[in-house]
Amino acid sequence: MTRRTKIIATIGPASESPQALRAMVDAGMDVARIGLAHGTLDEALGRMRLVRQVAEEAGRRVGVLVDLPGPKVRTASFGQEGVELRAETEVEIRVGDAKSTAEVVEVDYENLFHDIAVGDQVALGDGQVLLQVVDVGADKAVGVVLHGDVIHGRPGFRIPSDRLSMSTPTPEDLQGLEAFVDESVDMVAISFVRSGDDIRRVNLEPHPVGPLVIAKIETQAAVQNLDDIIDASAGIMVARGDLGTECLMEETPHLQKRIIRDCIAGGLPVITATQMLDSMVQASTPTRAEVSDVANAVFDGTSAVMLSAETAIGAHPAATVATMARIAERADEEFDYVRWGEDIRRLRMTDADAPTSLTDAITGAAAAAARELNLAAIVCISASGFTVRSMARFRPQTVILGLSTSERTVQQLTLSWGVTPMLTFEEAGDDTLASQAPSQPDLSYRIAQALAGSYESRVAEALGLAKEAGHVVPGDLVAVVAGMTEATDVLRLVRVH
Ligand code: PGA
Ligand code: MN
Repeated sequence: MTRRTKIIATIGPASESPQALRAMVDAGMDVARIGLAHGTLDEALGRMRLVRQVAEEAGRRVGVLVDLPGPKVRTASFGQEGVELRAETEVEIRVGDAKSTAEVVEVDYENLFHDIAVGDQVALGDGQVLLQVVDVGADKAVGVVLHGDVIHGRPGFRIPSDRLSMSTPTPEDLQGLEAFVDESVDMVAISFVRSGDDIRRVNLEPHPVGPLVIAKIETQAAVQNLDDIIDASAGIMVARGDLGTECLMEETPHLQKRIIRDCIAGGLPVITATQMLDSMVQASTPTRAEVSDVANAVFDGTSAVMLSAETAIGAHPAATVATMARIAERADEEFDYVRWGEDIRRLRMTDADAPTSLTDAITGAAAAAARELNLAAIVCISASGFTVRSMARFRPQTVILGLSTSERTVQQLTLSWGVTPMLTFEEAGDDTLASQAPSQPDLSYRIAQALAGSYESRVAEALGLAKEAGHVVPGDLVAVVAGMTEATDVLRLVRVH
């Protein structure tokens, strides 16, 4: 069996040379994540160009995801040598950007005393130091150190997001995003989202023309407003790092399961992120607990698993990707496909009048046929990727070939579980049509698409392409799924000649 769960790797100093990137592509990276929290915008754009160049040389499809950091409040510098904040000592908290010491922590944020309150627990950096706020005045606050540690440079100062008056995405986020959109980035992730409106405010062209918009679930408000956020987004990330600080840590495994289930039911790809193989930042093998964590995310139904520091600053970026690929592939073998398919059916097939019912019925039937008839492939012909993502949510054991005329759609399908994205029908000359494809099926678009080439010739061409790429051989039985009108409404079972 080939691996079905996708792998996202974060690009950073450890992985930005052409050699390191090539090794990661060869090890199985499906999507490269480029953060905007560190370095300049030009450096980040350079990373995207390099990823694309290396993927092309390797002959593999690799998607690019730009990650907008969102509001981030930082302290003034503790200096390179660092300062120890000792447990049970008191520190004064002031607004400023000059210098932080063990006695006075300056925070570079004007609204500080408006946004923090007595009783707040504020994490510094990745949570090495935890302060409890015990007093807030007009121009200073007092905190007691709950967990002490040595702290360097300018760590983040985490104000609970439900009180933070800064909004996400920030003006800097949007400026960075614009530059990436100009270079046709495939996906964008928005940090510290609190509501669906945070996503709607981004105001991009709907995918596939614009990037696939992914909401990072890492605040309590996002957990509460999950349905609305799913509604506004094209993908979701379970951002366990900040989520585990914002919510009780022991809630994260259960939130992970719930978020994944709700997303997949909605047909959205979902990413499980942070500390998946964290010990491999240094070590050459993961802990057994980490191996289980990756496998369990697969069993929860995640579409993709993500590496952060492991590949951005770690000692073994390519080996970590290869390790993750092995764990995911093995877990894919053990996944309970039958039960998952039944669960999704139950979740989806509730309302025959719902606008989604045609798509649900056809993709559900294709999944059932794949299982019962032992099909060689499910070939999805899709303009926007909607049909492919709807198909993937049923987790058929059969390989899903996601064929589109749109280069953008194909790139965006790199994130989807179990999908081999393929570009097709180029010679039909309807790439402009595909580039106008809306993210949701739209009647006039679908009809125009159906008229642009006969359905029969499309099926024949799709099968020819699948054969050429070695996914099917003559004699194989395959399903062809497509949307010809307002939904995914065609299912054919075809013998390959
Ligand atoms: P980050 O997001 O790595 O950008 O913080 C992921 C997380 O919080 O888990
Ligand atoms: Mn985060």
